Amino acid sequence: MSDNIGLSLDELRENLEKECIQPSYHRLKILEYLQAHRTHPTVDIIYKNLSKEIPTLSKTTVYNTLKLFVSKGIVQELTIEEKEVRYDADTTQHAHFKCTECGGVYDVALESTIVELGTVTEEGHKVIDCQVYLKGICKDCLKSAQN
Ligand SMILES: [Zn+2]
Ligand SMILES: [Zn+2]
Repeated sequence: MSDNIGLSLDELRENLEKECIQPSYHRLKILEYLQAHRTHPTVDIIYKNLSKEIPTLSKTTVYNTLKLFVSKGIVQELTIEEKEVRYDADTTQHAHFKCTECGGVYDVALESTIVELGTVTEEGHKVIDCQVYLKGICKDCLKSAQN
């Protein structure tokens, strides 16, 4: 898993320009939020937290910005549950573990890459995305169940 927490706004701006994305203030702040919060937030959570700091931000802007980031491959979209799309600035291959008790979504390291994106399978299908979802009880909930 890559660990790029703590990129400066200048570095984030460069990342966006590399992908030919106009680095507007809203886009930079949304990317910064995702880099800093590895909790796999939804549009609602990002909007709720950022709009306190940026009153001009709309939920539509958050939604459209995330769609743009996903299409450029700088953010990945997770759909562990239907109707609950979450976003992750870590685009390396890792599994996601959803806790059925607290609802938290945690990163789980994979021993190795399952499949390289772009690979054509034996059956002739081309892989463009790979998501691994696990469900269970997270370590914190396990601990509090013991107490
Ligand atoms: Zn939990
Ligand atoms: Zn993740």
